[in-house]
Amino acid sequence: MCSLIIKNFNISVLHKFNPDTLSKVLQLLETPSEIVVTSHYNPDGDALGSSLALSSYLRRKGHSVRTIIPNDFPEFLNWMPGREDTVIYFHKSKTANELLANAGIIFCLDFNSIPRVNLFADKLFEAKGKKILIDHHLQPEDHFDLTLSVINTSSTSELVFDFIDASGDADIMDKAMAECLYVGIMTDTGSFSFACNHPHTYEVVSRLVRIGVDTEQVHRLVYDTYSESRMRLLGFCLSERMVVLSELGTAYIWLTKEDLSRFDFKPGDTEGVVNYALSIKNISFAALFTEKSDRIRISFRSKGDYSVNNFAREHYQGGGHRNAAGGDSFESMELTLMNFQALLPRYKDNLIKAARESAVLKS
Ligand code: MN
Repeated sequence: MCSLIIKNFNISVLHKFNPDTLSKVLQLLETPSEIVVTSHYNPDGDALGSSLALSSYLRRKGHSVRTIIPNDFPEFLNWMPGREDTVIYFHKSKTANELLANAGIIFCLDFNSIPRVNLFADKLFEAKGKKILIDHHLQPEDHFDLTLSVINTSSTSELVFDFIDASGDADIMDKAMAECLYVGIMTDTGSFSFACNHPHTYEVVSRLVRIGVDTEQVHRLVYDTYSESRMRLLGFCLSERMVVLSELGTAYIWLTKEDLSRFDFKPGDTEGVVNYALSIKNISFAALFTEKSDRIRISFRSKGDYSVNNFAREHYQGGGHRNAAGGDSFESMELTLMNFQALLPRYKDNLIKAARESAVLKS
């Protein structure tokens, strides 16, 4: 009975991936290879969770595998199993370049365009190995030899689970791999508050819990780790730097370099800040503007049908998902905020509609 259920499950999973592409990937993996698994700049829970779990799986299948990430783990994810074996390009570019040049297969996880790795985009473009994309972002670029892209899914981590399951290897997944995948699903859905309306996500989670994931503990490890300065930065954002434009259904927060240094900013400290602006009643669009050395980095979030992916693509050379996207501005903070506000009136009707619809149960 049990095996029958698992078999059916495999079949349903196969339909999510393009079957031709999937079988080509599986065929490539039939012989032991030198494999690199990599993900995007400023890796988040999903980038790291999916990469670490896939690397561990491929190692178990007899491949020689290295995980390369552009820059370091955010502090609150330092505990993730497999961190010690990860090559951080920022610190070890020579080793990483050699690995990239020699890899027969390069798995690219949780990004849709090679420039997203930032520090070694040129090396990744040049690399001769077969590039395989596993990702859930909209509109993947044509940079990859094989593309397993499923946009209607919670996370790349869910896809890595599906990939291992479709390979018939769900039973070799261990607790460390399951914890990594759970981190990816949990963080990419904001603890199951968005991009999580598909029953399959919960079927995957249920199987991860069966493998032994302590979901309560993982939640604590990820979310109850604020430093005092990070918590005070959040307070500062909300009391001093948040602008609420109720008539446009929009709220935004802006942070200068001076603000960040005042609160002893560490990478990851502004993670989730934008969601506080979005959690105000009747706000359907939120943005966080963070001043970097050469640009203003912007995170966008939305509720309902209002697409921040389109907004970021049209105005900020960015993109992402319908309800979570990012972009950049190369103007000063003052100009950036002025331009942003000036754009809003043309979206007013959609923003108000999204705000209204997000405040009631849909029939
Ligand atoms: Mn993701």
